[in-house]
Amino acid sequence: MRKKIVAGNWKMNNTLDEGLKLASEVVNMVKDERKGDVIVVLGTPFIHLSQVSKLVNSTKDVYVSAQDCSQHESGAYTGEVSVSMIQSTGAEFVILGHSERREYHGETSEQLAEKLDKVLSAGLTPIFCCGEPLDVREAGNQESFVCSQLTESLFHLTKEQMAQVVIAYEPIWAIGTGKTATSGQAQEMHKAIRKHLATKFGDAIATETSILYGGSCKPSNANELFTQPDIDGGLIGGASLNARDFMGIINAY
Ligand code: PEP
Repeated sequence: MRKKIVAGNWKMNNTLDEGLKLASEVVNMVKDERKGDVIVVLGTPFIHLSQVSKLVNSTKDVYVSAQDCSQHESGAYTGEVSVSMIQSTGAEFVILGHSERREYHGETSEQLAEKLDKVLSAGLTPIFCCGEPLDVREAGNQESFVCSQLTESLFHLTKEQMAQVVIAYEPIWAIGTGKTATSGQAQEMHKAIRKHLATKFGDAIATETSILYGGSCKPSNANELFTQPDIDGGLIGGASLNARDFMGIINAY
């Protein structure tokens, strides 16, 4: 059975102390209140990874994720953080290809393919983001746009590698806008993503791949989204900055 995952993406929010407070609130709530078998992930800025990992590793109820990594191993890349550095903090997931990184940092599909290789060879779990901008949605080309993103960055992987990848479908027009995709729109895209993965990796891998929805997900709409047959959880931005809201989404199954 594929895994259900609710992952928070704190983006560039929280000082170290604020982040530790939020993480411990989440850990305590998960310990006391989690109803289902949902894997909970906190996607923190790099500065929090080590200390939040220590905090969660004592419980193993919650996992920690970086929000990006370098495609390089080490060396003269000022400001970058390598996969081995991330691994040394105890983090076990890495978010890759978030639309904000593609847009503001010019990340290309080729770079993302290299980053995926690095993350997978370290034995960490990539959460690979894909999703279309509004003009593509309005033109009705969302499926071909997202399938191309998948082809370009994932289709060089082996089946064994693909089995380690988590996908997050995040329509750009729904991120941080308060405008959520309807459950029907999201389900349609998740189904198309799974079908596309099957063309390359086969039905078994496609069926087992966790595909998360991201874009203005909140406690009030999470259940309707998560109960769609091809939606396996969420990548949560704004609502992951409040422990109570995040817990409401974790318990939305
Ligand atoms: C995100 O950026 O990954 C995201 C889903 O943000 P929000 O939940 O705030 O729309």
